[in-house]
Amino acid sequence: MTAARIVVVGTGYVGLTTGACLASLGHRVTCVDVDQAKVARLSAGRVDILEPGLSELVARGLTSGRLTFVVGAREAVQDAEGVFLCVPTPMGAGGSADLRAVEAVTEEIGDVLPSGCALITKSTVPVGTSRRIREMVGRSDIPVVSNPEFLREGTAVVDFLNPDRIVVGSDDREAATWVGSLYEDLASATVICDAASAELVKYAANCFLAVKLSYVNSIAELCERLGADITVVTEGMGYDRRIGRSFLKPGPGWGGSCLPKDTSALVKIAESVQYDFGLLNSAIEENIAQRDRVVAKIAGAVGGTLNGARIGVLGLAFKAGTNDLRDSPALAVSSVLCALGAELTAYDPAVGGEIAGMTVVDDPYQVAKAADVVVVLTEWDEFKRLDWSYMAEQMDGDTVVDTRNLLDPQAILDVGLCWQGIGRPRVR
Ligand code: NAD
Repeated sequence: MTAARIVVVGTGYVGLTTGACLASLGHRVTCVDVDQAKVARLSAGRVDILEPGLSELVARGLTSGRLTFVVGAREAVQDAEGVFLCVPTPMGAGGSADLRAVEAVTEEIGDVLPSGCALITKSTVPVGTSRRIREMVGRSDIPVVSNPEFLREGTAVVDFLNPDRIVVGSDDREAATWVGSLYEDLASATVICDAASAELVKYAANCFLAVKLSYVNSIAELCERLGADITVVTEGMGYDRRIGRSFLKPGPGWGGSCLPKDTSALVKIAESVQYDFGLLNSAIEENIAQRDRVVAKIAGAVGGTLNGARIGVLGLAFKAGTNDLRDSPALAVSSVLCALGAELTAYDPAVGGEIAGMTVVDDPYQVAKAADVVVVLTEWDEFKRLDWSYMAEQMDGDTVVDTRNLLDPQAILDVGLCWQGIGRPRVR
């Protein structure tokens, strides 16, 4: 593989992983961010986000000289062969993707990109964004390419270096093939296609996962009402290769930095072409209903009224293995509990600092102190290894609501507590 001169704009979960991994593949990578303090930290090898293997890759890149961090995209792109846009595309007013950061960077660098340099969107962007970027740049010598990213937080490096597939779309086939060749050392299926299809693959995949989760949460609710056990039902479903085992776990609702905004954006994309995406809308509504059912379950565990109830919360991150709180279902449930007058004490192994409406502690046993109920909201393995008999001694109440079906119900019963999961028989 020939080493290429790459610029990555945005050094968040996607940009930093992309930059560090491309440097590890031999490319020369300049990572750009508007956040000066972050650039200074990264230049000194300090990585803020919790991603296994990322700090090591950044350190190796810095030492080898193949990875640098700078502020100022205009200067950075001067001799680039490819520029990856990895800036945020959050949910905007009205539910569509907010493309202001993508447009700001395009505006900033459009006229100084060297001739032939590929402008590549790795940010998740609505169908038609490649065309919009091409119009904004207004240069026939700059190919615009869509190369959506599928990494998962918590396993970003492993996912980037072992992708299930690489999708590259452009109306300039040669440019798409060149972007695909940047990854040629990775054994992966590669889909080279048109820009619109590549842009849609990302939404189609993420929204499918959201629908799958809402579906399994609905089946879990049916399990509770019908006296079945979701772990058995999903085991039976998961052996079917057409269905697979992943994304079959019920929980407090799906969240994180991608699924809520991407489902909302796809509904809006569909609306823009007069298609009412009822299935996806139902999945979104079901997700809110799931959060409310979890709140009702916790209310039931404290005798019906949350006002004044002391609730111990285990887990705040949107999933285990990350410190990302963006659109975390744990926070969504917590904020409803707070609004209904509950007093929350919370612990998460990867999250500290202040969070409005609750006391965040750095010792898991403190959440149990005088708690009327303890609620597991993120599936951290370490919660299984807590001394639950000590937890039981600390608590005033007698119930653990396990919204991740993480704990062994019998172990909880053995210490004299009652266990309530999602879609499973209550154990008392
Ligand atoms: P992030 O918020 O972690 O990082 C974005 C970075 O971009 C920040 O460091 C920010 O300072 C920087 N930035 C913002 N505006 C900038 C500008 N004008 N110039 C330079 N830098 C700028 O975001 P993320 O989670 O990495 O997501 C980035 C994109 O990738 C989004 O479109 C997201 O949907 C998509 N994506 C995210 C994931 C994920 O798991 N986080 C996975 C796949 C795709």
